[in-house]
Amino acid sequence: MSEPKKMTLTVKVLMGMGLGIILGLVINLSGLNAEGSFINTYIVNGLFHVVGKMFVNALKMLVVPLVFFSLICGVCGIGNIKTLGRVGSKSFVLYMLTTAIAIAAAISLAAVAGIGKGMNQVTDTAFTGKEAPPLTEVFINIIPKNPIHAMAEGDMLPLIFFSILLGISMLMVGRKAKSFIEGAEVANEIMMKMVNIIMSVAPYAVFALIAKSMADLGIELLGQLVGYVLVLVSALMLHLFVTLMIVLKVFSGLSPAMFLKKIRNAQVFAFSTASSNATIPVTLRTVTERMGVNNSVASFTVPFGATINMDGTAIMQGVATVFIANVYNVDLGLSGYLTVILMSVLASIGTAGVPGVGLIMLSMVFAQVGLPVEGIGLILGVDRLMDMIRTAVNVSGDAVVSSIVAKSEGKMDLAIYADPQAGSIDAAEAIHIDETVEQELADVIQQTHDRTQ
Ligand code: ASP
Repeated sequence: MSEPKKMTLTVKVLMGMGLGIILGLVINLSGLNAEGSFINTYIVNGLFHVVGKMFVNALKMLVVPLVFFSLICGVCGIGNIKTLGRVGSKSFVLYMLTTAIAIAAAISLAAVAGIGKGMNQVTDTAFTGKEAPPLTEVFINIIPKNPIHAMAEGDMLPLIFFSILLGISMLMVGRKAKSFIEGAEVANEIMMKMVNIIMSVAPYAVFALIAKSMADLGIELLGQLVGYVLVLVSALMLHLFVTLMIVLKVFSGLSPAMFLKKIRNAQVFAFSTASSNATIPVTLRTVTERMGVNNSVASFTVPFGATINMDGTAIMQGVATVFIANVYNVDLGLSGYLTVILMSVLASIGTAGVPGVGLIMLSMVFAQVGLPVEGIGLILGVDRLMDMIRTAVNVSGDAVVSSIVAKSEGKMDLAIYADPQAGSIDAAEAIHIDETVEQELADVIQQTHDRTQ
């Protein structure tokens, strides 16, 4: 009898997402999610909320140790400071370039569609913008006063800085640091295993996260803001499926179809968590094990991209600027829009990839070009859904640049990239423990215990 074919994790996660969308919408449209109802209290804000948040916490828990150890290994793997500098500058330029293209295209599309013209500007959801850090602070804070504090806060840029410096110093110490480097490699492998364990429950968690988001969605708001939503989603899809894929093909020659197939998992995680930062473990796993990008490149480009590269967020800012300028009848002119492009690209450098941060960046842009910040209140109601979609685009951009840089440095395993099955996991295998190894380790622990008696 032939064995039944195992379902890969990606398929299960996609099923979780599909079922989550259906159930969430049913709960929403049937009115079952009314404030204080059983479903609202115990299912949506109870079970779904708890399961979803626990999962997002678990992902976040992995980010700092994973970035730390994989970057040390990455730096030691490159073994050459010049190459490191090249990887850094290439990825920085590509990240900024793709973001600038994204927002310029979004502004053009929104301007042609003329969204927001003739709309009523009265809004009851007042929005007061939070301060985004000034650029000078961003640069100063790249260097941590205290690396432990940066780790505890999950601040990505200072963490990247410290880990790279540590890796370089290890290389300079040379042979004496060998055991330390080997230790970091083992730690990195262990962290990757932890990613697999957490991912094995993803289908259920993604289901809970998405069902809650859909149940909470203000559907009537979608109707009111249909122009904004349609243009924004079209601009995001255009960037994902056309611009980024052309950039990938032109700069690396890699197959866009294969890329789109392999990136799906990371996109679903980004969509359900609305956080590029929380998705780092999955993005890192996807680009290294599914696409064949060497860890020496990915360990840097992925966390770096999660922080400084936000194509989707920039697109939202472009579309929102045109929309609100039209609603308030403000003519920004060419120089106004150029300022918006520049500000959005710069703002993306200093802000972490966490839910809703795009709105904070938007208030910074508005203040700069003189648009009313409270206008952001108009789009607040649909922002969570838009955030989910744009985060998937942000993460895809990180993976595109990682692949291009790795390919150009000869740090890409093309056989892995071309193999559709490479690196895909099924849930049972993710938590598989070899019994003989288990016994051996138990013996080692017993012996150590006996010796210390
Ligand atoms: N949630 C987005 C991210 O994590 C940022 C944003 O657009 O708000 O990439």
